[in-house]
Amino acid sequence: MTTEIPNPATGQVEHRQALMTSNAVEAALHAAQAAFPEWSQRSVQARGDVLRAAAGVLRERRQDLQQVMTAEMGKLKPEALAEIEKCAAACEFYADNAQGYLHPEQIATEAQSSYVRYEPIGCVFAVMPWNFPLWQVFRFLAPTLMAGNVALLKHATNVPRCADAIAAVLQAAGAPEGVLGVLHIDNDQAAEVICDPRVAAVTLTGSERAGKSIAATAGSVLKKCVMELGGSDAFVVLEDADLDKTVAAAVKSRFDNAGQTCIAAKRFIVVEAIAETFVTRFVEAAGKLRTGDPNDSATTLAPMARQDLREELHQQVGASVQAGAKLLLGGAPGQGYADYPATILDHVGPGMPAYEQELFGPVASILRVKDEAEAVRVANDTSFGLGGSVWTADAARGERVAQQLQCGAAFVNAIVKSDVRLPFGGSKRSGFGRELAQHGMHEFTNIKTIYVA
Ligand code: NDP
Repeated sequence: MTTEIPNPATGQVEHRQALMTSNAVEAALHAAQAAFPEWSQRSVQARGDVLRAAAGVLRERRQDLQQVMTAEMGKLKPEALAEIEKCAAACEFYADNAQGYLHPEQIATEAQSSYVRYEPIGCVFAVMPWNFPLWQVFRFLAPTLMAGNVALLKHATNVPRCADAIAAVLQAAGAPEGVLGVLHIDNDQAAEVICDPRVAAVTLTGSERAGKSIAATAGSVLKKCVMELGGSDAFVVLEDADLDKTVAAAVKSRFDNAGQTCIAAKRFIVVEAIAETFVTRFVEAAGKLRTGDPNDSATTLAPMARQDLREELHQQVGASVQAGAKLLLGGAPGQGYADYPATILDHVGPGMPAYEQELFGPVASILRVKDEAEAVRVANDTSFGLGGSVWTADAARGERVAQQLQCGAAFVNAIVKSDVRLPFGGSKRSGFGRELAQHGMHEFTNIKTIYVA
């Protein structure tokens, strides 16, 4: 079976991807198993040399990689180049810091010696999404490889050339065959891979629907999994917020990457005293965003990655308006094949899709609240728990509010972002487990106690 991959900017089919046969999947599983002993026994330093070389290859190939990303999922050229650089920096960061993260931890007991070792577990199977087609992969890959594991990647169906380009980067960097294998497979084949005894664990970044299915399969064979799922992050604007900075951040956080970011601000929870001014300025700033060719520097809002995603988003907007939300900007599909304009819904409330569900595209929801206490209550009135941010002139107040947000990462006067130095992940239905930093690196290790009496 082959899948046609249209360019989201034009609708033209530029690539047809064939699914792998069971023999090809078997060969990839075999290669991963064969690569593990030597890779896991290499010194951390030697593994780091490969990751440092990968950073160099990423930078050398950035123009080609950008074109593939833009052709497959419509990313704006500057956003793609920034993503590639972030991947290169992550490779270098884990090459430099893995030794410290993996260092055995002495724990004093009555024993002569007792300590914890972080040992690699084998092959980690990654199911990854299209929205950051390089970064989502390197976010798990750099720490996983540095921990001594090998990896198999099933990327989203719409970004097969990104998957192959990542494998080519690792190969050019000198990674032995089998250290990273790419599987072009469907979801049924993915379930078989999860169950294969040569696979030790699974990591997913994607939707709740995919999470339920993959976690159930992993659970059926008692395999560890990390789930990075959707979010509907609160962006809490208190009455003392610096509006120049806050409005600029609101536009960036909601509309970068055409709004297709798990940690994008999605629910703008604004206290009454500042709501009118914030909303007016937010609408004015977002109204300047221009859809168009993602390779053209005049385009400031990327097309959505697929037409079906745009349709789903538009339905959520329509149903929210029918339920009483007020449309202030946008709200109808654009001219381009998968364009959707910057859209703002005001007076969003319980029962509306914009309140209850994730809007994975360029649509902002405004929720007006009386005061700080109500802002916290509304921010937490969601099944999601990925990130959140608070905007205020009083950092101590912001910190107090941030501590009350039920999510994996709460930022004060800054946009929620993933940072290689900090753990990343969600609570509630946004998933479980962590990526990045020491916590992420330890997820796919055997945290082993050694006790010498
Ligand atoms: P999916 O969750 O369907 O896709 C993400 C990845 O999971 C893809 O590789 C996909 O493969 C795979 N996948 C999906 N279902 C299964 C399954 N049962 N078994 C194995 N693999 C599976 O996301 P969509 O592309 O449909 O995007 C829709 C929604 O997902 C968005 O609206 C957003 O809510 C959420 N999402 C969240 C992301 C995040 O960063 N947290 C990223 C992307 C999406 P395939 O493409 O072959 O189906």
